[in-house]
Amino acid sequence: MHNTLEEKRLLCPACNAAISVLVDPSAGSQSYIEDCEVCCRPLTIRLTVSHDGGDIEVEADYAQ
Ligand SMILES: [Zn+2]
Repeated sequence: MHNTLEEKRLLCPACNAAISVLVDPSAGSQSYIEDCEVCCRPLTIRLTVSHDGGDIEVEADYAQ
């Protein structure tokens, strides 16, 4: 098991800037609020980790 944070890049749904988020795949699938580093709006980050932990997907939503 690794405890390494992974950096994922995505587009901010609020301002369309390319941002990077640090996710922790060892904690499994989760969602949490993180402020966009560009526009500072609160984004819902959804992290999906496959059962073997080898496949990681990150999505960001902006709830107005
Ligand atoms: Zn933004």
